[in-house]
Amino acid sequence: MKKVAIIGAGIGGISTAIRLAHKGFEVSVFEANSYAGGKLSSFDLNGYRFDAGPSLFTLPNLVVELFELVGKNPKEYFEYTKLPDICHYFWEDATKLTAWAENERFAKEVEDVTGEPAQKILDFLKDSAFKYEVLDGLFLQDSLHKLSTWTSAKALKGYLNLPKLGIFGTMNDANEKLFKNPKIVQLFNRYATYNGSDPYQTPATLNIIPHLEYNIGAFFPKKGMVSITNSLVKLAEDLGVQFFYESKVEEILVEKDKVSGIRYSNISEKNISKAYDVVVSNMDVTPTYRKLMPNQKHPDRLLNQPKSSSGVIFYWGIKKQFAELGLHNIFFSDDYQQEFNTMFQEKTICQDPTVYINITSKLKPDDAPEGCENWFVLINAPANEGQNWDKIIADTRQNVIQKVSRILGENIGDLIECEEILDPRTIESKTSSAQGALYGNSSNNRYAAFLRHANFSSKIKNLYFVGGSVHPGGGIPLAISSAKIACKYIEI
Ligand code: FAD
Repeated sequence: MKKVAIIGAGIGGISTAIRLAHKGFEVSVFEANSYAGGKLSSFDLNGYRFDAGPSLFTLPNLVVELFELVGKNPKEYFEYTKLPDICHYFWEDATKLTAWAENERFAKEVEDVTGEPAQKILDFLKDSAFKYEVLDGLFLQDSLHKLSTWTSAKALKGYLNLPKLGIFGTMNDANEKLFKNPKIVQLFNRYATYNGSDPYQTPATLNIIPHLEYNIGAFFPKKGMVSITNSLVKLAEDLGVQFFYESKVEEILVEKDKVSGIRYSNISEKNISKAYDVVVSNMDVTPTYRKLMPNQKHPDRLLNQPKSSSGVIFYWGIKKQFAELGLHNIFFSDDYQQEFNTMFQEKTICQDPTVYINITSKLKPDDAPEGCENWFVLINAPANEGQNWDKIIADTRQNVIQKVSRILGENIGDLIECEEILDPRTIESKTSSAQGALYGNSSNNRYAAFLRHANFSSKIKNLYFVGGSVHPGGGIPLAISSAKIACKYIEI
C-alpha cells in the first residue's frame, strides 16, 4: 500500500486525508498542535465556548460530499441548519438593516430602509449567480496549472463571457455604478473581505461571493463551526487515517527531485525520519518552502506576493443578552475607503473600524452561561509586518468598545466578564500562516488567481499542496476544494 504523509490537520489536510484513504492510500496526518482544525478549532473560557476562527459556513455541500464519497450518511456525523437571517447591519446614524435569506424580503427591506430599488438588489444577485456559474467550472474545481483546464468546454464558456466577469474594473467601481445609496455600496463592498481583499482594488469578479450567501444560503453547524473539523476527523479515523498530534514536521525529504519522506519531532522524540511515497503539505505554502525545503528552488515571485488581510479578534464573555443582535452582526465604519487605505497602505487599523460580532449562543445557548452571550469580535487588520501590535490592539479595543456602546446604547466595557485575544502574530504562531494572513496571498489585483501556488509541485515529484494559501484560495469552501483538485492528480 502506498504511504502518504499529510503535513497539518487543517480543513484542507483533513479533506485530503479522507479522499486519499478512500482511494486506497495508507494516510498519516502530522499536526504540530495538540488538536485538529488549525484555524477551524474552538476553545472554552470561564463557562463560555468560542469558535476560534471561521464563523460563516457556506457551501455545506462540499462537506456533505466527503461523507457521500465514502458511502456514509452525513447526518450520522454532522448536522447544520440554514439561517433565515444572514446578517444584521448597523450604522452610526441609527440605520439598521437585516439581510434576510429570502431574496425578495431582503430586497424589500433594502428599499424600505435606504430607498435603493428592490429590483436592483435582485438584478445584482442574479448577476452574482451568473458570474459564479461561469467561474466555478473554470477556476474553482480544476487546476489552473494544467492545459486540460484551459481547453475544456467550461473554459470556452469562460472566454465567451470574459467581459461580463468584471475582471477589468474594481468591485467598488462596479457597485458604485449600480447602486445610488452609499450604504448599499458599502454592504456589497464588504464581500471583498471574505478573502481578505480591498474592495477598492480587487476586481469586480469577486461580486460572485454574495451569490453564496444569498442565493445558496448561510448555514450554521448545530454543534458549532468546530463540528465541521470534528466530524471530518471522525470520518477520516473511521477510514483508517492516523493522526499524530504535537508532531511538527521540520523537513520534507527529497531525493533526485522526488519526495522520499519527512523528518519531524514530537514531545518524546526529536528528528524522526520516515519514508513516504507522497507528501501533501497543508502548511501555508510560504513556510513550507522556506522552512521545510530551504535547499530546494523556491517560487519566489509567488511566495513574495502581498498577503491578504489578517484580523484582531476579541473573544468576550458578555454578561447580558441583546435582542437586537443575531448570529452575524456588522457595525460599519463611516469611511470605508479610509478604513481599507489604513489597512493596506498604512498597514495599521483605523480609529473607526468596521466591527463584526458573531454570537453562536444565539443558536446554541449552551455556548454561554444563562443570561449571557459569547461575543467573537473581529476587526480586519493588516498582515503582520512587525507593527507595534500591543499598541494597535489596545487602541482598537477602546475604539471598538466605544463604537459598539454608542450604537447599542449600553456600556459594553462594563459587561465583559472574560476575554481572550487573537492577533496576526498569534495566528501566525498557532497555524504557521505567513504573516498571520487569513487567506494566503491577497486578491487585490486581476491576476491574483494566477499568483497562487498550484496544488502540486512541478519540480518535485509526488509533492502536493492544499489549504487556504494555494489554489483556488482561502476560506473553508476553497480549502476543501483545494483537496479535491490535488487528489485528482495523486494516483495509487
Ligand atoms: P489551517 O487552518 O491554516 O491549518 C493548517 C494546519 O497545519 C494547522 O493546524 C497547523 O498547526 C498545521 N501545521 C502547520 N505547519 C506544520 C508543521 N510544520 N507540522 C505539522 N503541522 C503543521 N473562512 C470561512 O470560510 N469563513 C469564515 O467566516 C472565516 N473566518 C475566519 C476568521 C478567522 C479569525 C480566521 C483565522 C480564519 C477565517 N476563515 C474563514 C479562513 C479559514 O479559517 C481558513 O481559510 C481555513 O480554515 C484554512 O484551512 P487550511 O486547510 O489552509 O489550514
